[in-house]
Amino acid sequence: MLDTAREILISTYGFRDFQGLQKDIIEHTASGGDALVLMPTGGGKSLCYQIPSIMRQGTGIVISPLIALMQDQVDSLTQMGVRAAFLNSSLSPEKQREVEARLLSGMLDLVYVAPERLVQPAFLGLLERITPALFAIDEAHCVSQWGHDFRPEYTRLTILHEQFPHVPRIALTATADGPTRRDIIRHLDLQDATVFSTGFDRPNISYTIQPKDKPLEQLLHFIRTRHKGQSGIVYRLSRKKVEETAAWLCAKGIEALPYHAGLNAIQRHHNQERFMREDGLVMVATVAFGMGVDKPDVRFVAHLEPPKSLEAYHQETGRAGRDGLPADAWMTYGLADVVQLRRMLGQGEEDSPRRMVELRKLDAMLAFCETTECRRKVLLGYFGEHDREPCGNCDTCQFPVETWDGTVAAQKALSAVYRTGQRFGAAHLTDILTGKLTDRIRSHGHNDLKTFGCGKELGASQWKGVFRQLACLGLLATDADGHGGLRLTPESWQVLRGERMLSFRRDILGRSATRALAKT
Ligand code: ADP
Ligand code: ZN
Repeated sequence: MLDTAREILISTYGFRDFQGLQKDIIEHTASGGDALVLMPTGGGKSLCYQIPSIMRQGTGIVISPLIALMQDQVDSLTQMGVRAAFLNSSLSPEKQREVEARLLSGMLDLVYVAPERLVQPAFLGLLERITPALFAIDEAHCVSQWGHDFRPEYTRLTILHEQFPHVPRIALTATADGPTRRDIIRHLDLQDATVFSTGFDRPNISYTIQPKDKPLEQLLHFIRTRHKGQSGIVYRLSRKKVEETAAWLCAKGIEALPYHAGLNAIQRHHNQERFMREDGLVMVATVAFGMGVDKPDVRFVAHLEPPKSLEAYHQETGRAGRDGLPADAWMTYGLADVVQLRRMLGQGEEDSPRRMVELRKLDAMLAFCETTECRRKVLLGYFGEHDREPCGNCDTCQFPVETWDGTVAAQKALSAVYRTGQRFGAAHLTDILTGKLTDRIRSHGHNDLKTFGCGKELGASQWKGVFRQLACLGLLATDADGHGGLRLTPESWQVLRGERMLSFRRDILGRSATRALAKT
C-alpha cells in the first residue's frame, strides 16, 4: 500500500519524499482508521487526506469552512490530474448539478464541501447513493467553542459517524491546545481515533517582540533593514488601521495592499491574487486574511497589535517561511493594546465561562509578550511541548533581557493611580511621577500630591514600561468607559502593602532594538 502512496506522491505531486508524519497518517487513513492530525500551518496536511482519497475506492469528502479557497485547491488538483470538484454557494445551479452528476457516477476522487452544505438532508441523501472514500474534516478546531474560530455547523458533523459508521474520518487542525483538542475529540466523536501530532515548532521562524514606541516607524525600520523588497504580512486589529497602515507604507515607498472584511469581494480577491502572484508585496490585513494562504516565500509576519491568543499568534506567524528558509515573526505592542484587547473580550457577557476562557488565552498571550525566557520555549510549552532548550533564534535568546526589581516603582505607580481617583491614563500618571508641571496637572492640583515627582529616577519611557507590565500582570485594570483610565485590582493591594515583589523586564526601546536585530 505504501508503494501506491509513494507512487502518487511522486508521479502526481512531483514530490520526492513524504515529510514528517505524512507517511504514517496516509497509511493509517488509507487502511480505514480514524485519525486526528495536529500539525502546524504549512506542515503538509492536505496530502494526508488527498492521497488516501485517491487510493481508496469512492470519493473523498473534504469538509472545509474556507469557501474562498476551494476553487484554488480544486484548480491545482485538477492540474495535477486529480479528479476534484467543489460544492458551495458560489456555484450556479447548473454547475452544481454537473458536479453532483459526476459525483454520482463515481467520476471524482475528491469533493470539497462547506459544512453548512454537508449537513443538509439533500446532500446527505446524495452521499447515501455514492461510496465515500473518507471524510476529511479540515480546520477541525472550528468545532470548539473555546477556539478562536468557532463554526456552529461543525458541531453537527457527528452525523457523519452516525450515518456512515464505516467510512473513516480524518480531522485536521493547526491549532489545538488541550481544551480545543478535547473538544474536537468529543464533538466529532473521535475517541478511538489515532492522534498524530508533528509538533508545533517552526524552527526557521525567528520571534521578536518590541515595546511599542512609534509603531509605524518601527515597522518601517524593521522592513527596510530586514526585508526590503520581500513579501510579508502585517496584521492590524481594525479595518481603519489596516487602511492607514497600507497607505502609510505606500507613501514611504513600500508597496502594500489592504485586506479586510470591509472591502468588497472583488477588491479582496484582487489584492489576494496580487499578493500570491507578485514578489515583494506587503499585505496589511485584519485576521480576515490568511486562513489557508499558502505562499511559500512570505519572509515576515508583523503584528502591530497582539492577537487574542497564542493559537492565533502561532497560526498567523506560521504563514511566514513555509519554504523552510529563515523568516521573521515580529511584533510590537504596548499598554494601549492590553487595554483594548481586554475591553474587546466579553462585551456584554461579563462572567460567562466563554469570557473566562478568552481572558485566560489573552493572559497567556500577554505573558508571552513579557517573558524574559526563550520565546519558543514559552510558545511550545503552551501547546504542551515542554522540556525544550532555549532556541537561540528569538530576541530573548539573542539579547537576554535584563530584569530589575520593580517593587518600589510599582508601588509608586499604583499609589499615583489611587491618589488621583483611579480615572487617569498612563501618560498623565507618568507626568505626575516624573514631576512634569503640565496644565492638566495644575488644573487638577496634582502637583500637590505626595506622589508628584516621586518617580524622577525613571524616565517617561521606563514608566510606560512599568504601566504596561502592571496591566499585563493584572495589577491594573481599565475603567469600563474606555477612556484609558487605570484603576487598581484586588491584587494591586498585595503590591501596595509590600506583600508581593515584582521583577520587570528592562525594555530595549525603539530603534536600538531593531538595530540590534539587524546586525544578526
Ligand atoms: P497545511 O495544510 O498543513 O498548512 P499544506 O498541505 O498546504 O499545509 O502544505 C504546505 C506546503 O508544503 C504546500 O506548498 C505543499 O505543496 C508542500 N508539501 C506538502 N507535502 C510535501 C512533501 N511531502 N514534499 C514537499 N512539499 C510538500
Ligand atoms: Zn529562543
